[in-house]
Amino acid sequence: KTVAAVDAKLDDAKLIGITVDKELDFSSWYQQILTKGEMLDYYDVSGCYIMRPASYAVWEQIQEWFNKKIKALGVQNAYFPMFVSSKVLEREKDHIEGFAPEVAWVTRAGSSELEEPIAIRPTSETVMYPYYAKWIRSHRDLPLKLNQWNSVVRWEFKHPQPFLRTREFLWQEGHTAHLTYEEANEEVLQILDYYSGIYEELLAVPVVKGKKTEKEKFAGGLYTTTCEGYIPTTGRGIQGATSHCLGQNFSKMFNITVESPEGPDKPKINVWQNSWGLSTRVIGVMVMIHSDNKGLVIPPRVSQNQVVIIPVGITAKTTKEEEDSIYAACKKLEARLRASDVRVIADYRNNYSPGWKFSDWELKGLPVRLELGPKDLKNNSVLAVRRDNGQKVSISLDEVETKVPEVLEDIQASLFANAKAKFDSHRVIVNEWKDFVPTLNKKNVILAPWCGVEECEDDIKDASSKKDDGEEEEVDEKAPSMGAKSLCIPFEQPELAPGQKCVKCDKAAINYCMFGRSY
Ligand code: AMP
Ligand code: ZN
Repeated sequence: KTVAAVDAKLDDAKLIGITVDKELDFSSWYQQILTKGEMLDYYDVSGCYIMRPASYAVWEQIQEWFNKKIKALGVQNAYFPMFVSSKVLEREKDHIEGFAPEVAWVTRAGSSELEEPIAIRPTSETVMYPYYAKWIRSHRDLPLKLNQWNSVVRWEFKHPQPFLRTREFLWQEGHTAHLTYEEANEEVLQILDYYSGIYEELLAVPVVKGKKTEKEKFAGGLYTTTCEGYIPTTGRGIQGATSHCLGQNFSKMFNITVESPEGPDKPKINVWQNSWGLSTRVIGVMVMIHSDNKGLVIPPRVSQNQVVIIPVGITAKTTKEEEDSIYAACKKLEARLRASDVRVIADYRNNYSPGWKFSDWELKGLPVRLELGPKDLKNNSVLAVRRDNGQKVSISLDEVETKVPEVLEDIQASLFANAKAKFDSHRVIVNEWKDFVPTLNKKNVILAPWCGVEECEDDIKDASSKKDDGEEEEVDEKAPSMGAKSLCIPFEQPELAPGQKCVKCDKAAINYCMFGRSY
């Protein structure tokens, strides 16, 4: 290729930023920032996506944080096979009913049909629990706490969305067995706190913790706790992660019993079990909430790289000596930041202008860029530019080890504060049905007094999905008139007025439930 052709290509590249507006075409915007920001690529099997290093690095930060927490609880990591025989998969009736439509099966090897098809795990309760039955012999073997980092396959037919709903996804699944309900219950809530910690402390995403209704709980479990997130641009809720108390259902089906600590003459005890999972969905939620029309915005605590150093101000007039001193200063700065545990890179590509590089790293969502040029060097300073709000701060070169981490933490805090303000202002208390759909249509999720009856939950969904009340407007092009689901019964409850009725029916309300259109 000629030099001119390469230059022309670079000029073109300048223009390949985000070409759609987040508010106007959210789903194209989401596709563009993920692919152009080099987080993810599309794949030729529908519903499957490639996680590129920038997103896998976020996952690794989560793994590191969560592993530390669960290991302190005595959880050990292990790995079980991805295949499960139909006999074992079908052992717990409610469980398989919940998952059956999405289970993928291996039916053939090479050109020969398998005698019996083998399922690919949609989750691993049935894979693991026959071995729990084998390993747990005495109450002294309890608690048993295992976790695995793996992928599962759910052949979903709902519209796939990168990270949020994929056919194969990475997650962790923890599976524990306890002697008592109290112990199991305590752990369910502890894990839920860790999940909200991942969202709030690492991803700067606010969540509401609560309990799922009977209709929405995990198939075969006793009760499900959840952290629910909110996507302001579409006004939809999203299930963030779930921590389930399975009760004794599975231990009965899989015969996981121990002798009573009170003696062999007492009846055997079925163990109490929990399972809990958090998937790569979290990355999609983070991206949707923070990113903007310039591209990705990644919170510093999880960003693969936190700071990029870019040499600036080098022109035709710059002497060789001056240029060398700028590069030397950049390299020194890089080494100092790296030594103080800042994830730093430097962009020395000399075939791109500084302006082009600025846009490129903005597209990729790098939290801070440090510009260092002749003027900065003369002032013994460096210019820090924040990705989240564009603010520029000059930092003395003597203080970079303390000031740069401060800027990063400040970005982290303000991303969270902004997202929290949006969620808080779009979580609206609605006591009367007449206000329900209009409030929903203003991109809110709703806290409503509710009777707790499943038929009423169905009615709410139906009634809020109808178009014939003239109120309904399109929320987004893919889900124009979707009904409101119960998202959770929040642990933190508004006070119920005496005699308060359900928002939808005539029965008495038993608590406030959070409803919303959801992913
Ligand atoms: P579950 O075992 O169904 O409770 O799922 C555990 C968590 O995995 C959920 O809370 C979701 O956040 C996430 N999840 C469920 N289905 C998918 C999917 N198809 N793609 C990505 N994440 C998922
Ligand atoms: Zn009701």
